[in-house]
Amino acid sequence: MDNDGKFIGTPQKASTHVSQDERLIFEQSSPGKKAYKLPALDVPAVDAKVLLGEAAREDLGLMPEVSEIEIIRHYTRLSTWNYAIDLGMYPLGSCTMKYNPRVNEVVSRLEGIADAHPYQPVELSQGSLNIMQLLSECLMEITGMDAITLQPAAGAHGEFTGILLVRAYHESLGNPRRKILIPDSAHGTNPATAAVCGYQVQNLKSNPQGMVDLEELEKLVDDDTAALMLTNPSTIGVFESEIHKIADILHAKGALLYMDGANMNALVGKTRPGDFGVDVMHLNLHKTFSTPHGGGGPGSGPVACKKILEPFLPTPVLCTREDGTLGFEFNRPQTVGRVRAFYGNFGMFVRALAYILANGPDGLRQTTEDAVLNANYLRAKLEGIFELPYKTATLHEVVFSDRAQARNGIKTGDMAKRMIDYGFHPYTVSFPMIVAGAMMIEPTESESRQELDLLVDALKQIAREAEENPQLVLDAPHTTRVSRMDETAAARKPVLRWKAPALATPLQPDTAAKEW
Ligand SMILES: *Cc1c(COP(=O)(O)O)cnc(C)c1O
Repeated sequence: MDNDGKFIGTPQKASTHVSQDERLIFEQSSPGKKAYKLPALDVPAVDAKVLLGEAAREDLGLMPEVSEIEIIRHYTRLSTWNYAIDLGMYPLGSCTMKYNPRVNEVVSRLEGIADAHPYQPVELSQGSLNIMQLLSECLMEITGMDAITLQPAAGAHGEFTGILLVRAYHESLGNPRRKILIPDSAHGTNPATAAVCGYQVQNLKSNPQGMVDLEELEKLVDDDTAALMLTNPSTIGVFESEIHKIADILHAKGALLYMDGANMNALVGKTRPGDFGVDVMHLNLHKTFSTPHGGGGPGSGPVACKKILEPFLPTPVLCTREDGTLGFEFNRPQTVGRVRAFYGNFGMFVRALAYILANGPDGLRQTTEDAVLNANYLRAKLEGIFELPYKTATLHEVVFSDRAQARNGIKTGDMAKRMIDYGFHPYTVSFPMIVAGAMMIEPTESESRQELDLLVDALKQIAREAEENPQLVLDAPHTTRVSRMDETAAARKPVLRWKAPALATPLQPDTAAKEW
């Protein structure tokens, strides 16, 4: 819609735009308004100074004073300016933004689970430990690995933990080695992880199919190579069909194979990294196993490994004690140490386990097949409209290039912004790096054919606009509160909270402060 509420182009879906009152909550403030009503005091009043000493505030500063309905409308309005998986499709490739089933939320809010405290004695935490044990067993079965830690708080943290294990393993053999190989298609967190763990990153060029070039690999692996970090399926959604050979080449030189498991949504129930030579990997519970993510919420990045790496796992390690109950083992001489407070993001474990148990083995396999089917449906419908640089078989995500549209000056980022006007979250822009002007689309299994068709229609329409009315795309989005932002300033000088403007006259204690 433009500012008068007219649609520009022909969006297929209603946008989430709310064109009403934009007044800020601070401008609605007037002294004495309150959004609460407290019962009359039935105990003697105590001066805040007596209770809190120096910490007691003289005044409440410039806090807005508003009524209940004003504050409710303020936050509800803000929530409608955002986008969410509960509003529509989120085809953000590499992120696996699947639907988070509500049953996960119901289970995670059960009293005994939600109110458990990490300082509770182990004897009173057997239920929680059982959840962690059962989840560990499920994840080891799914990945084909021998041991696991649930501690890491997200994918990148899992990578860090996994490479610490690799380092500790090589150190135990007398030499930590110096290099880690990383394909040029890798997620940026991979080279960052290697560097943070003290390794030199050696770039591994992909072959014309976008896969690991075995000859190149053979040339680069030597006695100083600690590991290869490999995403499988890769960031262009392609399965490394020669992964066994890749593992053999590494193992022949004493190097290990680390698998970035963020793309497990394409493998669960079909094949297992442990069976194709992987030594250590992380999982993103907040991608593959439907725990909420985005907006910086809690993630979870368990690390699963083979027997040879087990002695190095972070402590404490979940174990079965002599009396058959569960507990934690702290005494592990070769451990890399703790990587997180307590035991990890427990609420995510509950949600992931609920998801795994609700689906069961057949359901999980079906999920994988549907995710791959959906990505291939989009590939078939959009090939020809957008250039497809890699023709290799697609698994759970498909990467197009903006090359055809770039001839008219329309780049991947412009089309992504125009998608917002059609009611969709943008796809992933300009990643992976091996595709110029990448448009990376991952529909996940959550979407119906009708929804996929709406996405196809929107993207086709945008491609048409790129030819016939490029300015419309260049100026998008038209339906949001703000349109194009200064992305550099947003990253470099973020304004993350409201601050009171400097006051000309000293603040007088206001009504609220006096009452208090
Ligand atoms: C998402 C992702 C990561 C990082 O995971 P976070 O949980 O965001 O830290 C690493 N590698 C790949 C391929 C990913 O898609």
